[in-house]
Amino acid sequence: MATCDTCGNEYDKVFKITHQDQTGVFDSFECAIAGMAPQCAHCGTRIIGHGVEDADQIYCCANCARRAGQTDATDRVS
Ligand SMILES: [Zn+2]
Ligand SMILES: [Zn+2]
Repeated sequence: MATCDTCGNEYDKVFKITHQDQTGVFDSFECAIAGMAPQCAHCGTRIIGHGVEDADQIYCCANCARRAGQTDATDRVS
């Protein structure tokens, strides 16, 4: 048994996510997103895809990046 970092649920099928120097234990992907996913610097939504990064900010989409002043931001698909 372990305890979810986000909601405190004690559960026997938790999983661990490590992102950069942060590690979290979660009982569901929903809790993992709430606990670990970065937030858009413009609208605050949780970013669960690739997002759009500039030097020190991350945005959910190119539209938010442009609205925040990154005039050359485009959605990249590779
Ligand atoms: Zn949870
Ligand atoms: Zn956004």
